[in-house]
Amino acid sequence: MALFRRKKMPEPEPEPTIVEVDVPALDGIPEVSDDGLRSMQDHRDYLLSKVEPLPPFGMALLDAWGLALCEDIQSPTHLPTFDNSQMDGYAVLAADVALASSEEPVELKVVGVVNAGDASELIVEKGTAVRIMTGAAIPPGADAVVPFEDTDRGDDVVQVSRSVEVGQFVRAVGSDVVDGAPLMARGQRLDARSIGLLAAVGIDKVLARPRPRVVVVSTGAELVDPGRPLAERGQIHDANSYLIAAAAKAEGAQMWRVTVPSDDPNAVREVISDQLIRADLIISTGGISEGDRDVVKQVMPQMGGTDFSQVAMQPGKPQGFGLIGEDEVPMIMVPGNPVSAYVSFQAFVRPVLRKLMGLEPQNHVPVRCIASSTMRSVRGKLQFGRGEVVSSNGQRMVSLVGGHSSHLLGDLAKSNALVLLGEDVETVEAGQPVMCWILDHD
Ligand code: AMP
Ligand code: MG
Repeated sequence: MALFRRKKMPEPEPEPTIVEVDVPALDGIPEVSDDGLRSMQDHRDYLLSKVEPLPPFGMALLDAWGLALCEDIQSPTHLPTFDNSQMDGYAVLAADVALASSEEPVELKVVGVVNAGDASELIVEKGTAVRIMTGAAIPPGADAVVPFEDTDRGDDVVQVSRSVEVGQFVRAVGSDVVDGAPLMARGQRLDARSIGLLAAVGIDKVLARPRPRVVVVSTGAELVDPGRPLAERGQIHDANSYLIAAAAKAEGAQMWRVTVPSDDPNAVREVISDQLIRADLIISTGGISEGDRDVVKQVMPQMGGTDFSQVAMQPGKPQGFGLIGEDEVPMIMVPGNPVSAYVSFQAFVRPVLRKLMGLEPQNHVPVRCIASSTMRSVRGKLQFGRGEVVSSNGQRMVSLVGGHSSHLLGDLAKSNALVLLGEDVETVEAGQPVMCWILDHD
């Protein structure tokens, strides 16, 4: 019985098992300069080297708006596909009305009416006319159209008071697009006009690269979703997930946003793991600096190959990248200050998104502007000032909006450009040229 009287001991707590994840190291990491910094271009090129364009698939024409085509398209038909009337009037033989004038109108017998869409059997013979509406097929025999304005609009007989030339007011078959003509080339982005053209020639599906599925994860114990009250001192609304999701949407991505209102490693790990399944790209904001609670930087190396670097730019100096999970989903980790996150988006996320979409990645072409007032910068770093560009006498003038601090969302919202104050620039005098990235432009 001793066994039963023995004092029961609580089960010992199991030792936490550390799951050893086989995390591949990333290769091709760029060299840094003597001060330990990586150039913005090197970092961008490095990220671009780690992603490939998404595989294309066939999709409904309208769904492909804004996407890059993956096929060359020739016209399968002439446009117009048949000779048709450009005006409401009468289909005639031009020779019949060659002498018509308002003083001496020519009378023609009206043998019928043809409306747009009719498959009419009517024929125009010498001395006759067919009443015809815009877009209706020109009846055999007719070679011109007399607009209503130059007739008495008669029903059984019509008085024509002006001559027309052969072919006048006739939209000839193939006069717009010829059968077999190249319409679109692979790599071209479908805009409204090209979609209209493809629809006109009868195409309803195209092979295009899909919208990248992108999840923005903002992290930070201080974050509260907009729409909810800030319950405690110290909390702020999550601006970044909205800011970055909107910016990525404008580039053509399909977006989801998630807030992790925590600096707990497990919370971050869990959310990222959950999102991997639906993401072609994950963007995180916050938690990659040197603070005690910079949890993204602590957690992500357990989930994939990662690279944390300091880039010679301001804002946006700390940057992170990873290929996360079994499927090595690319993840770009940007700092938490909203302006830093936004500048990082323009410098790094945008090119990556464009590459995923099969577009030329580096298309933020710096535009030469003239400084409206003196601008100061820090040597050794590429500084991104927030600028307002206005056109004046055919020239683009730029002024800085607010200061350099990267929490200034009010100023960011007023700006329409990023002013590039290069690594060797300390001062740009008023009237001097300075390069800018114009925002919200292709
Ligand atoms: P972190 O990069 O996490 O050190 O954050 C830097 C600064 O950005 C801190 O002042 C944060 O409160 C702020 N911040 C971080 N995430 C967000 C966010 N989602 N929206 C607005 N501000 C943020
Ligand atoms: Mg933080």
